[in-house]
Amino acid sequence: MLPTIQNLNLKEIREELKSGKLKLTDLVKYYLEKIETQKHLNVFISVFKDDALNHALEIQKKIDCGNAGKLAGLVISIKDVISIKDKLHTCGSKILSNFNAIYNATVVERLIAEDAIIIGKVNCDEFAMGSSNENSYFGAVLNPVDNERVPGGSSGGSAVSVAADMCLISLGSETGGSIRQPASFCGITGLKATYGRISRYGLTAFASSFDSIGIFGKNLNDIADVMEVISGKDEKDSTSAIEQVPTFSDEILKKFKPGEVKFGFAKEYFEEGLNEEIKKGILLKIEHLKNSGFDVKEISLPHSKYVIQTYYILTSAEASSNLARYDGVRYGFRSENHSNLEEMYVNTRSEGFGAEVKRRIMLGTYVLSSGYYDAYYRKGQKMRRKITEDFENVFKEVDFIISPTTPTTAFKIGEKNDDPLAMYLNDIYTASVNLAAIPAISIPAGNDSKGLPYGLQIMGNKFDEAGLLRAAKLFT
Ligand code: GLN
Repeated sequence: MLPTIQNLNLKEIREELKSGKLKLTDLVKYYLEKIETQKHLNVFISVFKDDALNHALEIQKKIDCGNAGKLAGLVISIKDVISIKDKLHTCGSKILSNFNAIYNATVVERLIAEDAIIIGKVNCDEFAMGSSNENSYFGAVLNPVDNERVPGGSSGGSAVSVAADMCLISLGSETGGSIRQPASFCGITGLKATYGRISRYGLTAFASSFDSIGIFGKNLNDIADVMEVISGKDEKDSTSAIEQVPTFSDEILKKFKPGEVKFGFAKEYFEEGLNEEIKKGILLKIEHLKNSGFDVKEISLPHSKYVIQTYYILTSAEASSNLARYDGVRYGFRSENHSNLEEMYVNTRSEGFGAEVKRRIMLGTYVLSSGYYDAYYRKGQKMRRKITEDFENVFKEVDFIISPTTPTTAFKIGEKNDDPLAMYLNDIYTASVNLAAIPAISIPAGNDSKGLPYGLQIMGNKFDEAGLLRAAKLFT
């Protein structure tokens, strides 16, 4: 059935729907079948089969009358940390495994208003903490390229849902690379917007001064279409930005010419620890850009060596505070095993949270405790400023920074489970962007000799997602 759908972008799907060659119900059925036949990848936590098919009928009518929304024809999955009213909202955790969301996230409202169809909610690391999607209460997600390997995390389910053709687009979330890293491991594109560009209302908090919602897709134009709909000020999120939202779908059509923009590559991102094949591949891309006449020069981000420490200190501190609310009283799971209130709190949290979440809560509580606050938390904040200043300085000289997205390709399931530090080093090229609150994109850059994909990352100045999408186009 419908053999060509796999290669169509949103614009083409919309044209097929308009001309009547494709029916929206058949499109939804196509994706449902892909979900069904690839269950072993463990991607979806909830599939909204009936809702999706009903919406398809309603939206088809609008298409036929010529009054459908901007995203009619889009079938999308949502990471299970973003609320959809009356649907299970687990955050990949036992502690919320029986919790239904009571309202729609703003991004969900905006998608629905433009006639997107939400096909289900996808697996992720517990409370978005992880780089491999092995930390989910619902089990690991498998990489579709090689089922013995991880898809990356924490938005692994989102990445695989797109890479394995179970939907066209997925929304994920980032605190330190959770969109770009799995996009890189699965061979697709992932955009992390500027902090504040997309409302966080309805996104369950991990580290609130870092968290942002972002988009996975196979095609840059599709990502631009969705960005246009979900971005912009939201009265319900005081940290959402008032900056005007460009018409991304038009912006992306404007091709950058040599001389118009400058690129930099940070020497610190090509040092020890980077896989040789990835290094060669990315340097080749840079060479190619130069040969096409673009200005590319080496730049320096001198505080890069402090990124991982700073990121884990600050995000764990925020997480320990944000996760205090899961106490067995207000949400989800409550331990049966207690004879007084304190025991109920303790046992609920002991039984409800997984090992990685507990590690972060302990680390965060420690760095915030009196006596250690100045030594760790305050120092971390100062370092965050330094890292941000590195970027501010570089963006006076260049418009975009190019780097690998990850130091390696996808690793084997279980390979890094006993070594949290090795796991944390996955974020070495991505977490700086979240510390500095800037936007970045990962696009497919090639495959290693085992056939495993890796990504090229482009980082941009605050609120220049349109520029990022245009810069990314130069590599396609
Ligand atoms: N891997 C990082 C972490 O474990 C990033 C997570 C994220 O971006 N949500 O914290």
